[in-house]
Amino acid sequence: MNRCRMCGCSDARNIFQVGPYSILRCPACGFGWPMPFPTVEELSAFYTGCQHAAAVEDSVNTAERQRVAARMRELAPEACSVLDVGCGFGHYLDIAREIGFETYGVDIDEGRASYASARGHKIHCGEVTTSIFDGRRFDCIILNHVIEHVPDPIVLLHCLRDLLAPGGLLFIACPNFAGLHARITKGHFHHICPPEHICYFTSTSLRRAVGTTGFSEIALETTTHPLQVKHLLAFLSYLRFIKPREYHVPGNEAIVQRFVDRRFSSLRSPAYAAVLLLSRWLAPIVTVLGGDHIESYWRRV
Ligand SMILES: [Zn+2]
Repeated sequence: MNRCRMCGCSDARNIFQVGPYSILRCPACGFGWPMPFPTVEELSAFYTGCQHAAAVEDSVNTAERQRVAARMRELAPEACSVLDVGCGFGHYLDIAREIGFETYGVDIDEGRASYASARGHKIHCGEVTTSIFDGRRFDCIILNHVIEHVPDPIVLLHCLRDLLAPGGLLFIACPNFAGLHARITKGHFHHICPPEHICYFTSTSLRRAVGTTGFSEIALETTTHPLQVKHLLAFLSYLRFIKPREYHVPGNEAIVQRFVDRRFSSLRSPAYAAVLLLSRWLAPIVTVLGGDHIESYWRRV
């Protein structure tokens, strides 16, 4: 599978190795993916094994969510409903509700879905399809750090287009495979962690994917989040000073431990650790040189 699924180029090269995976990158659009590509069964086994390990990951700071929600409100002042695809515990939905949105979410994890549901959001537990919530259409959709997990982003984007009302707003955030951290740390970049992340986007490849599935671009930028508590927790857990309860999943310790090891192995790179620790001050500079994340807003056409 050397053919790029975003632009069709068939010249993808193996650029480095991450555990048993070769990481391929398309020279035309920069899109990357692991080989062998995980099967549906492997992905399902992986997520069953580490469903609780995402708790640290979910502690992204509230200010980031407020900033995105405010921008969505500005871009879609008349919008009433928002659907968060991969809503997790519903943190984004909490903020969306505060600024007047009617909130819907979908998540494959039962624990997180029921948590979000108990907080008063309308939640569908399972895969996203065009028939969830009786086929209703939404004014806005949030796809926050989800597209890098799915085996077929194009199928997902077609589905989201069908779920949006005409003129509806789509927000997509994902790691930036062409950012400064990714370029410095290569195979140690913490977002290159198959089978958890299996699609590595750049601005060019994301534009290609979203632009050809029925959306027009409103804005696309790269960002770098300053140092957060979760980074310190991750570092301490990597050093084995702490072992968060969330990482214990009975019967699946091996899978979850592998997840933790892979996830934070980039901290072995002194360059990465230094950049991370200084990121509070370096964030604006890093962002100019290519931030860690891509944040983008799209209009359904
Ligand atoms: Zn490509």
